[in-house]
Amino acid sequence: MPNNTLMNTYGRLPVEFARGQGVWLYDETGNAYLDALSGIGVCALGHAHPVVTQAICEQAGKLVHTSNLYHISTQEKLADKLAEVSGMSNCFFANSGAEANEAAIKLARLYGHKKGIETPSIIVFETAFHGRTMATLTASGNRKIQAGFEPLVSGFIRAPFDDVDAIKNIARNNHNVVAILVEPVQGEGGLHIPSSDFLDELRAICDKHDWLLMLDEVQTGNGRTGKYFAYQHYNWMPDVVTTAKGLGNGVPIGACLADSKVADVFQPGNHGSTFGGNPLACAAALATVTTIVDGGFVDNAAEMGSYLVQQFLQRLSDNEHVIEIRGMGLMIGIELDQECPQLVSQALDKGALINVTAGSVIRLLPPLIITQEEADKLVDIVCELIEALA
Ligand code: PLP
Repeated sequence: MPNNTLMNTYGRLPVEFARGQGVWLYDETGNAYLDALSGIGVCALGHAHPVVTQAICEQAGKLVHTSNLYHISTQEKLADKLAEVSGMSNCFFANSGAEANEAAIKLARLYGHKKGIETPSIIVFETAFHGRTMATLTASGNRKIQAGFEPLVSGFIRAPFDDVDAIKNIARNNHNVVAILVEPVQGEGGLHIPSSDFLDELRAICDKHDWLLMLDEVQTGNGRTGKYFAYQHYNWMPDVVTTAKGLGNGVPIGACLADSKVADVFQPGNHGSTFGGNPLACAAALATVTTIVDGGFVDNAAEMGSYLVQQFLQRLSDNEHVIEIRGMGLMIGIELDQECPQLVSQALDKGALINVTAGSVIRLLPPLIITQEEADKLVDIVCELIEALA
């Protein structure tokens, strides 16, 4: 039953889950649901992963929070681990994806000011999604989430996604640009994978103009695309990377990683967070990152991702309603020729959690631990739904 004391920010499905185990969620009467959404790309290791649970319980029994006024060795260990897996040099911890992006936006602006640019601008993209704070919803390329919240934040220039010429044009006409903020694969916007050389070209343009290449890996990070970070599919390094979602396997944490060029832009007093990087969140994240890497789940995401796309192609390539099946690791989109929000509740009735984004794209973000048997079950359910479309 809806609760009238909650603000009306979500249209919720009529189900409550009582517990989870691996890729499965169970409602209060014991019905099982295959979770192909992972809490919107969060529970990379599935539900109730024993290593993460143990880390949370042990840390909760010792110390939950002290604040960043004191040393937090778990935070330092997590920063070291993220530096190791990312190749980036320094880390700031926040509590969410939007906050990690706020840190990146502030860092780019400060970098610009230090270069003498008084009104720094950041290039962002159409159909991008970067969060719901004022700066990140401005950076997002979706009018629906901005409408009613004007005045928006200044200092962003929007370009079409996957269009290098548009960026070159901005470079010719604008001397205040300090950074590009881009998702390596757009998630919320409809699961758009750019052409293979788009990000290479952005890297080259950023180098040429001394702009920062800032990757929003809030959704693509932590093994989701079949590499620990999506930029690791390429042969260069970004200047800034943000991540969140899969980082704490459900315990809220976000991170803004910076490479040496901008690693010391922030100085004491420039940025902060009361909760960010607290011992509990960092213990959960350290256990999560270590398990994702050591457990071989990045490779499993690559393998199971290709397997799922292959199976969908086999079953659906002749289906008249399917426009495109696309995926990178376990970030998979099936674009249909019609709006299909009803598929979410139809999937629930069949015992699976899926998502529809951008109106007509079925988005699947299953846990990285999914097995082939579970993947087969997911394929059956999703294909049955699509085959039943009028
Ligand atoms: N950036 C990307 C690419 C996202 O997909 C999301 C959330 O879906 C965010 C930022 C915002 O993250 P959060 O909801 O944790 O603030």
